[in-house]
Amino acid sequence: MKPDSNLPSARDKLLFTPGPLTTSLSVKQAMLHDAGSWHFEFNALVASVRKRLLKLAGLSHEAGWEVVPLQGSGTFGVEAVFQSCVPHNGKVVVLANGAYGERIAQMLKHARIDHTVLRTAEDTPSDAAALEACLVADKAVTHVASVHCETTTGILNPIEKLGAVTKRHGRVFVVDAMSSFGGMPIDFEQCGIDFLISSSNKCVEGVPGFSFVFARRALLLASEGWARSLSLDLLGQLKGFEKNGQFRYTPPTHVILAFDQALRELEEEGGIPARSERYKQNHQALMTGMIRLGFRSYLPSPVQSHIITSFLYPDAKFDFTDFYHRVADKGFVLYPGKISQCDTFRIGNIGRLTESEMKQVVYAIGEAVAEMGIKMESASAAKAQ
Ligand SMILES: *Cc1c(COP(=O)(O)O)cnc(C)c1O
Repeated sequence: MKPDSNLPSARDKLLFTPGPLTTSLSVKQAMLHDAGSWHFEFNALVASVRKRLLKLAGLSHEAGWEVVPLQGSGTFGVEAVFQSCVPHNGKVVVLANGAYGERIAQMLKHARIDHTVLRTAEDTPSDAAALEACLVADKAVTHVASVHCETTTGILNPIEKLGAVTKRHGRVFVVDAMSSFGGMPIDFEQCGIDFLISSSNKCVEGVPGFSFVFARRALLLASEGWARSLSLDLLGQLKGFEKNGQFRYTPPTHVILAFDQALRELEEEGGIPARSERYKQNHQALMTGMIRLGFRSYLPSPVQSHIITSFLYPDAKFDFTDFYHRVADKGFVLYPGKISQCDTFRIGNIGRLTESEMKQVVYAIGEAVAEMGIKMESASAAKAQ
């Protein structure tokens, strides 16, 4: 019998994905209200969310920071920074080692903004020395763009080193921290960050619907007249909030109600350090279980983040679709790979998940592999290789 998802007893599958992710029941319940986007109570809520986001990031107005929420998914926030905060004669260096770095390059192409892409292999962090050489050689460069946790693989890029080089050469540093903000501590000043983008449905554990951009106020004010887009104009959006406390166009009201609750739960958990610790434990439990089953992760552990992990197919004949369906039937949603060089699938450690759920998904994976009759290399044999 097919479970009826409208029955109150029906349980959603757990999402081991990089967002949208499994959220708490209370976050979902927070959406059971209609909020008027012009109403003073909703405006006060938006102001409160913006204030708490700044605090969560360790930033303040006094120190010259703003946070600008923007309708749309994370990509819209990243694109807004480039569409509106790069001058017409500006040039961007993009550090890329995966799909999200490549997406920034694509955005720049669409906006007809001059750019250079510094690529490293998908298992290799961005190279600060190469960035330095590029900034020395090319005086036209105004901005540097990096992806903190490249969710394509789960690799962590060295934003502290990249930021130091960028600042030493007086350029603006833009960080796509979509999948890491909230899930690991980020020191904005230490990393020389000028713009940082994340979204509602990643490590803050809200539902999808808006992105938010942390920015130095002076840089936002300096971008007057640069916007190539009306709806993605960050300074325009900031001015809207400052004028009447409102989003310029229809806000995702329910999403903001859920986000307010998600922020509360993040605060209650103990803030970013505590959440980071939970995700680390999730990652550890996953790795231990998967290695025991005979799986191998794609990345070497020194560059692996605790956000999401890529695993290699166990053999060349591995039927991922069959595997995916079997694991889903047991109640767990995995994520396909996105790497160009080899066949992988991904398992996210983020969202309302604990060590116990990580053990459950590993158990389900073990069952699926056994049902499919796959001969796994034993963990000791894999290690000996
Ligand atoms: C999720 C993600 C994005 C944004 O993706 P959307 O689908 O637009 O929300 C951008 N960069 C990174 C690194 C991400 O993980």
